[in-house]
Amino acid sequence: MDAQTTTMTNEQAAQAAANKFLTLNSGNLAAYLESCVKCGNCATACHFYEVTGDPKYTPAYKLFPMARAHRRTKWPWNWFGGPKITEAELQEWEELLFDSCTMCGRCTQACPMGIDISSIVAASRQAFAAAGRGPADLFEAAENVLTKGSPLGVTPAVFDGRVEWLEDDYEVDLRLDRPKAEVLLTVSSIELMKYPKSIVAMARLLNQAGVDWTFSTKGYESTNFGFLAGKMDIARHAIEKLVATAEEVGAKLLVIPECGHAYGVLRWAGSNIIGRPLPFTVLHITEYLAQLKKEGKLQFRPIEQSVTYHDPCQISRRGGATAAARYLLEDATDFREMTPTGNFNWCCGGGGGVQAMSRAADLRHKVFQIKMKQVEDTGASMMLSACANCRLTMDDSKAYWNWDHELESLVELLAEHLVEDEPHPFDGKPHLA
Ligand code: SF4
Ligand code: SF4
Repeated sequence: MDAQTTTMTNEQAAQAAANKFLTLNSGNLAAYLESCVKCGNCATACHFYEVTGDPKYTPAYKLFPMARAHRRTKWPWNWFGGPKITEAELQEWEELLFDSCTMCGRCTQACPMGIDISSIVAASRQAFAAAGRGPADLFEAAENVLTKGSPLGVTPAVFDGRVEWLEDDYEVDLRLDRPKAEVLLTVSSIELMKYPKSIVAMARLLNQAGVDWTFSTKGYESTNFGFLAGKMDIARHAIEKLVATAEEVGAKLLVIPECGHAYGVLRWAGSNIIGRPLPFTVLHITEYLAQLKKEGKLQFRPIEQSVTYHDPCQISRRGGATAAARYLLEDATDFREMTPTGNFNWCCGGGGGVQAMSRAADLRHKVFQIKMKQVEDTGASMMLSACANCRLTMDDSKAYWNWDHELESLVELLAEHLVEDEPHPFDGKPHLA
């Protein structure tokens, strides 16, 4: 929070939020706010409503303060002032816009008017951030991007040290700071700190496919907590860093690792955020691996275990890469879809930065009951995902519920079943970490 926002009175904060929202409220957002017919269809599409039955979690309700700010711009309200956003509303809606919206987009699929509630939530978060309102831990993670280079404090020196450690322990060539490369591979700091094997797995797969790739200590972090916190200056900073790095190494393709929101923000919002086209193509790692497999550059041994796949919202529903994971799982002899699945799959409960909000933990755990039931209904022994944030959310909820189902990364499982020119020394043996 900057000095200006800490010194605002409650009334000034409410006004600042309204003013900020109105600067963003052009075109599609205004059309969305005009279009709601209050049918309530979106309620049961939202996991927060589904597990609690509390009407305050109805997606359309989450938009009320901003819809009110929007109405003030309309005749005759703009003559007479109209209803204002109040400080009490700021307090009530902070939880609804941050803790209980994962920006998963499931409500939009149920909406007869096609209202993209997630995009209004994103704009509302910007309004709240302008008023200095929002979860302190999410804001701190966003500020870390400016001060340390990553939300979890992974500085370039830490990144360099982790890469060196992984290279030694896993006997894999992690190509760091090559001066030129066709592909810039990025990481999420969640992977780096919690799931480093997924980084090893990506390297093994790209090396086997003969890809000319590099990591860079100048631009490695793909997550974008500035976007999730509604702090667009930080979002822009993170994207510009990746753009400058890719330009320096001459990469025409930037690959996002197993992270959903990193993919959505860069691929679908990146150029709008920086105000010019991105100088590279953006692919999620599952899309890129599917492409390499199709080109005959990757082959996999059959996966014998029964598996099911959790679609990360920003990769499947909002990302458009739903088919890539299925294509990669063609080599699974017993693949079982969840119900619902694909673009209609349920959220893990931790997207949109909710995983980073400690005060949202109870609600997140409740939401995970939907996923547990989905997985149990398939009877599969292993659940896969292609998002480290989903994985962290689900691991945390698994521990909370003492639920002992196996949860793995899709990319790690693929690396373990990769047909390599030389067998990897750790295949079939326990890894070191
Ligand atoms: S985007 Fe997802 S979490 Fe947010 S209101 Fe819609 S269904 Fe609920
Ligand atoms: S489904 Fe769409 S139109 Fe109906 S209440 Fe929800 S947002 Fe409004």
